[in-house]
This record gives sequence, structure tokens and C-alpha cells, in this order.
Amino acid sequence: MHAEVIINSNARALNKVFDYKVPEDMENNIHIGSRVFVPFGKSSKLDDGFVIALKDSSEFECKEIAKIEKEESLTEDNIILAKLMARKYFCNISDSIKLMLPPGTGSKKLDLRTKEKTGNFVFLAKDVEEILDDISNGIIKSDKQKRVLEFLCQNDGVYSPDLEVLTEVTSGVFKTLEKNGFVEIVEKQIERNPFINKNITRDEKKVLNDEQKKCFDGINFFIENNEYSSNLIYGITGSGKTEIYMQLIEKVLEKGKRALVLVPEISLTPQMVDRFLARFGEVVAVLHSKLSVGERFDEWNRIKENKAKIVIGARSAIFAPMEDVGIIIIDEEHDSSYKSDMTPRYNAKDLAMYIAKQKEIPLVLGSATPEITTFYEAKNRNINLYTLTKRANNMNLPEVEIVDLRQELAYGNKSMFSYKLQEAIKKNIDNKKQTILFLNRRGYSTFIMCRSCGYIVKCKNCNIPLTYHSFGNTLKCHYCGYETSSVKVCPECQSEKIKYFGTGTQKVEEELKKMFPDITTIRMDIDTVSKKNSHEEILNEFKEKNIDCLIGTQMVVKGHHFPNVTLVGVIAADSSINSDDYKSVERGFQTLVQVAGRSGREETGKVIIQTYNPDHYAIIDAQKQDYDIFYSQEIELRKMLNYPPFCDIIVIRFSGENVKEIQNVSKKVYDKINNLNEDSLFIYKPVPATIDKIKNKYRWRIILKCKLTSRVLDIIKYGIENSGVKDTSIVVDINPNSMM
Ligand code: ADP
Ligand code: ZN
Ligand code: ZN
Repeated sequence: MHAEVIINSNARALNKVFDYKVPEDMENNIHIGSRVFVPFGKSSKLDDGFVIALKDSSEFECKEIAKIEKEESLTEDNIILAKLMARKYFCNISDSIKLMLPPGTGSKKLDLRTKEKTGNFVFLAKDVEEILDDISNGIIKSDKQKRVLEFLCQNDGVYSPDLEVLTEVTSGVFKTLEKNGFVEIVEKQIERNPFINKNITRDEKKVLNDEQKKCFDGINFFIENNEYSSNLIYGITGSGKTEIYMQLIEKVLEKGKRALVLVPEISLTPQMVDRFLARFGEVVAVLHSKLSVGERFDEWNRIKENKAKIVIGARSAIFAPMEDVGIIIIDEEHDSSYKSDMTPRYNAKDLAMYIAKQKEIPLVLGSATPEITTFYEAKNRNINLYTLTKRANNMNLPEVEIVDLRQELAYGNKSMFSYKLQEAIKKNIDNKKQTILFLNRRGYSTFIMCRSCGYIVKCKNCNIPLTYHSFGNTLKCHYCGYETSSVKVCPECQSEKIKYFGTGTQKVEEELKKMFPDITTIRMDIDTVSKKNSHEEILNEFKEKNIDCLIGTQMVVKGHHFPNVTLVGVIAADSSINSDDYKSVERGFQTLVQVAGRSGREETGKVIIQTYNPDHYAIIDAQKQDYDIFYSQEIELRKMLNYPPFCDIIVIRFSGENVKEIQNVSKKVYDKINNLNEDSLFIYKPVPATIDKIKNKYRWRIILKCKLTSRVLDIIKYGIENSGVKDTSIVVDINPNSMM
């Protein structure tokens, strides 16, 4: 017997299948998906890999498989999925396989379980930023120490024996780091149950209203009959979608199967998990990136060992080891976090649909503002549509007002708060009610421009504007971390007319405190949210201490429940709708509707949207909270301009240090694809990307518009393989979040 083995490696040259002979005594133990150790190349060390096929003979002279690692093997379904992903998303099979392995393992073997009750945990003693600075300034000289600190920056608070294995050092290194003030070693309980210390009251099942019932019955039909179907629950926030999910899950569990619930990373909050715990108890497992490696490993095992019946997780939970899944639910299905921006560039929604078909189970998508593409499919009856029109607890939607910022300027108001917003904030402070101020992060950080010559201070490594940080008075690059002191004269024309543009959360906070000296505020953005749980901590503090105002970026938008918030202010809606990406209007609308949903969850609330484009349809529709009108306008535009759902968008990205090679290679790829002359395929010439240089690497791109078919995948593959590429990295991104 022979096996085809994929070596566990990122190297493109190893993205091949190697044949090995299966020793006779292994023949009964080996299967597709087995993890094996094999002799490879000249090294005497064994390499690890996975069996992706078995066959009687091989045309090659083969070495023998040395060992099978039974515990860490994958299933045949895993391998089929990994192959499919490699083809569709242009990655190595091993890239996909990595997502399916237990957390913390890679090529290393971990024994994370222990019988002890308490143990030493290693925590960072300083901020991640400080540690990273120390590393880049050469303060940490030892490679081992660096490895440990870098690991802790990603996963703070690791069980000491685990950390030894993961970073390949001995515990002496932690002691040295502790002595020098970089880490703290704390004795803690080992039981890594993320729900420990929780005090949860049981939540009883509700009697569904007519709309909910119709939806439930519709989907339950497919559960009862073991049939595939795609379903969209389109219903405003609070219309009772989660209640339907939970009742469907109950049915699935009754049938002896299990349930997978995907939610956007950021809305995977304890409040959200608590609802499932309250209904189903401890059979819930949670998977997301904020858990420590140990916690993730434990949750993964609870799933693998069938102790957890319901898995709630972010995008990558689609790979949770659960053979008998009976329903896949994707909440907030429009959220961009379901599409990965890193290799493998998969879309969890596509994979969910594939798995649901293969297992003959229903897929349920839920949203108040479905992705345009999803809604189009629902209108065309490729997806079953269920609409919930009422809020389950009969709360009214908040009143939304638009303020024209151009007019404010004409009135002489130069502050970032319109008179209306100032008044409303004041009223809220007086009434002891809470306010949320929302700021779009994308493209809306402070940048510095010379008003005499128009010069913009940019990063020397990346061609993008530097961001001003008032703390430390520095300019920073958000892509590569380059930092420099802020400037007072223009480096180009020596003029002193340097102006700081844009608004960061810090600046909003400063202005707010100038205007209302007694106001209490709390900020939430990438700067304040870096440590484990601190996202949660900020929100809890805001809620519990009844702080007057929360100022935040995107992160404040999703799913939280603040009973005392009666005012939401959007500082400037424009940055979310003005961008050269076809998806930005859709996303801007969704964001505004969601932000508005934060106001008045229990009492009637108010929303003020400030904008320079009060006539834009996305803003007017958001004011009316009317998705249907927005959809009908947006779909017309998409049709006219031939954008998804009327075609797929494929971006081929080229990057590298050698700009000449990039030009040549991209031109070759373009020519090869173009010469095949497919009617239905539209290809744009290679051009520099919107941000044409990051970390000293030049970036070019080609955009294709067409329906993504097997033939198209072949054409692209052919183009890349015949481009003479040497040092340029080529990435293919299917329906990316951003074309930039
Ligand atoms: P969504 O997921 O659409 O935001 P939820 O399922 O969270 O909506 O429902 C909002 C609130 O209404 C929750 O507190 C929920 O318990 C309650 N609720 C949902 N359905 C019902 C029902 N049929 N009867 C009573 N309360 C309900
Ligand atoms: Zn100048
Ligand atoms: Zn940079």
C-alpha cells in the first residue's frame, strides 16, 4: 500500500504530493487524514505531514512512513475540504489543514492537560506596546527571551509548562524575565473553563410569536427531514432571531446532533454567550482569538470528545472538530469578519454552505441588514426568506436626525459637535443618561498636511499618511510601526502652516472635556483594547459606573445591550460611504443602522448623524432605518456597474521589493489571461494598488470581473504558473472585503 502525503509547510515548492510506502503493520491503522511522520530530503529529522490519498502502488521509488500520530489525525472530510479550499482560494493544502488542527499544535507536540489543581502562569508585566518597543530597541538581547515575550504579546497569561513547550525554552528564562520586570509569574487555578466564576440564571424558552413561529416551522422542516437548505432570517435587532436560533438548536440536540453558531469576533461577548449558557447549560463551547492557547485547546478537546454540544465561535470555528453537526447558524451574516484577509483567504459563509450541503442540514443566516448578495439570492428564491418585522418586546426604533455639517460651518460652528449634538449631550448629562459617540476608524485618523504646499507627512516605508498620537506627541505608521516626532515646519517648503486633520477618539475626548468639564468619559479603540478581556472590561465599566459618554470606533457598534443609553452621535458619517470600493456604501449603511440600534434599547432613544453628504441615499435610508429601500437602490447600481451579485470580483495582488519584476510578472499574468479571450471574463490592466507600498514592499494588482467558475480558476492558475515569477509574491483574493 502507498500513501500520498502533504508535508506540513508553507513553502510553495512543497505544495506537492509525495508518495510513501505504508509498512505492512500500519496498513490497518492508516486512513485519509492520518497524521504521519516521514523521512524527508537530506535531513535525518522526521517531518510531519498528512495522508491525502491511499493507493496500491506508486510509480516512484518510495521511502517508508515512520510513524502514525493517531490522536492528531484528521478525517477524510477534513482533507476533502482542505483540497477544495486550496483550489478555490489558491493556497497550499497544508495552509487549510492548519486551521483544522488543535490550537497550539503545529509541528510541535503539546501536553497541555495536567492533573494538578493550580500552577504557575506567565503574564506580561508591561503593556504590549512597551514590550514590542523594548524588543525593537534591542533591549532584549537573548533570542529565547524575545521568543517568550513575542509569544506572550499574542497570548498573555500562559501556563508555564505549556509556554516552555510552545516557545522551546526552559522555565529559567521566565525567571530571568521576571527578575528584569518583563513578566510576572502568578499561581493560578488550572481549570481552564472560560465560564468559571459565572453565576448564570436559567432562561426559559419563550412562546414564539406568529412571525417567529413561521420561520421556526420552515427551518425545522429541514431538520426533521435531514435536508439541506439555505435560509435567511431578516429581522431588525430585537426581533427575536436569537430566540429562534435557540429553539432550532434544541430540536437539533433532540435528534442527537450538534450545533454550530458563528458570530462576528467582536460580538462574541460574554453577554451573548451567557444567553446560550442560560438556556443550555455547560454543553456550550466557545472558540475565539481572545482565549488563551490553553483555553482554546481545552475547548477544542471538549468538542472533539463530544462533551460540548453547541459551539459558538468566530470565523475559524467553521473548522471545529464536529462530525455530527446538525445545523449551522451564522448571525450578523453581513459582517465582513467572515471573510479572511489572510491566507487561506476563505469565506466562512461559502464553506458553511458547502458543509451544510454535504451533511444535508440547514444553514441559517441572520441579519437586520443582510449582505446585498445574500438578499439578492433570497429574492431569487435560492435562499428561503423569513422576515421578522416587529421587535419581540415591542420597543420602538429610535428617532434618527441628520445634521448637515456644511451648514454648521456656515453658522460659524467650527467644533466637531453640531449645535444639535451639543444640546443633546448636555441634556443627557443633566438627566444622568448615557451617550455613545461613534467615529469611523477607516480612513479617518488624524493626518498632517501643509496648508501652503499640500504636502502630507507619510511613512518612509509605506506610502500612507502617518497618524498623530497626542500621547508622546509622535507620528506613527499603523502598518509598519514606524514612529517619528511630530513636525512643526513643512519638510517640503519650510512653511509653518502645518495642520492636523481628521478626528481620532483621543481628540473627540479632549474636545468633549473642554466643552463639558464635568463629563465622565471612556474610550474604546485599538489603542485602548489590546489586553485580554479589556474590550469587555471597558464596556462593563461604562455600563456599571454609569459613565456619561463612551467614545469609540467600529467596536462599539456590535450587539451590546446598554439600557441607559438614550443618545448615539455619529461624528461624521462620510468616511464610511466615501471610498473607492464598491462595498463601502453597503458597509456604511449597515454600520449606521447598527450604531443607531445601540440607542434606546429600553427607553425611546435618539440618534444624531453628522455628515457633509446629507443627500446621500445610504444616509437617508439609514435615517429611515429602511433596508428594503436601500436594497432596491443599491441593487440597481450594482446591476448598472456590473458588480456582485451580478459577477464575482477577483483581485490578483503582486508584492515584493523588486518593482521591475512586479511589473513584468503582472503584465505576463494579464497577457496570459487576456489572450485566452473568455467572453464572460473582464480583466483590468495591472496597476499599482491604492496603497502602493507597505513595509518597503511595492504592491500592484489586477482586477477581474466574471462569474467564478471552475474554468476561471483554471485560467488564473495557468496565468500565474506561466508568469515567470521569481521573487514576487502573488495572492489571489476572491470577493475580497476591499479591492484596495
Ligand atoms: P435578535 O436576536 O433579533 O436581536 P432576540 O432573540 O435577542 O432578538 O430577542 C430580543 C429580546 O426579546 C430578548 O430579550 C428575547 O428574550 C426577547 N424575546 C424574543 N422572542 C420572544 C418571544 N417570543 N416572547 C417574548 N420575548 C421574546
Ligand atoms: Zn509645505
Ligand atoms: Zn509604515
